[in-house]
Amino acid sequence: IDFKNSDDLISQLEKTIDNPKKVNKDEELLVGVDLGTAYIVIVVLDKDKNPVACEMEFAQVIRDGLVVDYIGAMNIVRKLKKNIEEKIGTELTKAAIAVPPGTGEKDSKTHRYVVEGAGLEVVNILDEPTAANEVLHITDGAIVDIGGGTTGLSIIEDKNVVYVADEATGGTHLTLVVAGSYKMKFEDAENFKKAKDKQSEVFPVVIPVIQKMASIVHNHIQKYDVKELYLVGGTSCLQGIETIIEKETKVKTIKPKNPFLVTPLGIAMNC
Ligand code: ATP
Repeated sequence: IDFKNSDDLISQLEKTIDNPKKVNKDEELLVGVDLGTAYIVIVVLDKDKNPVACEMEFAQVIRDGLVVDYIGAMNIVRKLKKNIEEKIGTELTKAAIAVPPGTGEKDSKTHRYVVEGAGLEVVNILDEPTAANEVLHITDGAIVDIGGGTTGLSIIEDKNVVYVADEATGGTHLTLVVAGSYKMKFEDAENFKKAKDKQSEVFPVVIPVIQKMASIVHNHIQKYDVKELYLVGGTSCLQGIETIIEKETKVKTIKPKNPFLVTPLGIAMNC
């Protein structure tokens, strides 16, 4: 796989967070909306799939892939859309979205209504590992998506997703452990955990939770011949997480440049 290319693309996308590009009015744009347990992210690409803009907001409006605060979710998408439109100089009209694998039709529709209620026509609904693989181009291996609430796993054989699983234990659990250990409020612990200069201090405290995530992965890949794991999702950003996962699963573990942006980017690429 051409890993360097996807890392380059992610680097370009990262730059647009602070420096969105101006585009011509009415230029055709590809938009991806990722409604997550911890973050709502919008990625905008031009028609040649070059990154244009990326906005995100911390939001607890989705739980276990289900929309639990419909109005809250819609308002955030509307706000992010408006922020981007002001920065890039044109209106966003359509978007692709993604749902966790196995999400039923009814729940997928709720995701669609949130985004359409915010003024974007939903032109495609993907499942999350398929979106991630648009960026990673894995032929055989497993995508491990460690997000806010869960550790998800999708086994890919010959470019097809052949098995999926999703279990509780994600970044929120790491934050709870940090909050307990340092006697901090959840929000403070969340920021502490994510701060680059605190990660070496935080790491030993959260190792047992990471081992739990690794054991989830280990249990689910037993029946398959998985040779490589690819980490995506916000929690995979934690420095050193790949070493624990590799040690516990005994499977080569690869971490893209910014695991947090892989799925949102893949969603936009399929608009
Ligand atoms: P889920 O996949 O469970 O539905 P989600 O899609 O909202 O949730 P992500 O946005 O992939 O999840 O990840 C959110 C989690 O990633 C949060 O717990 C957040 O604290 C964590 N996170 C984000 N950035 C970092 C970082 N730099 N270091 C450690 N953790 C991080």
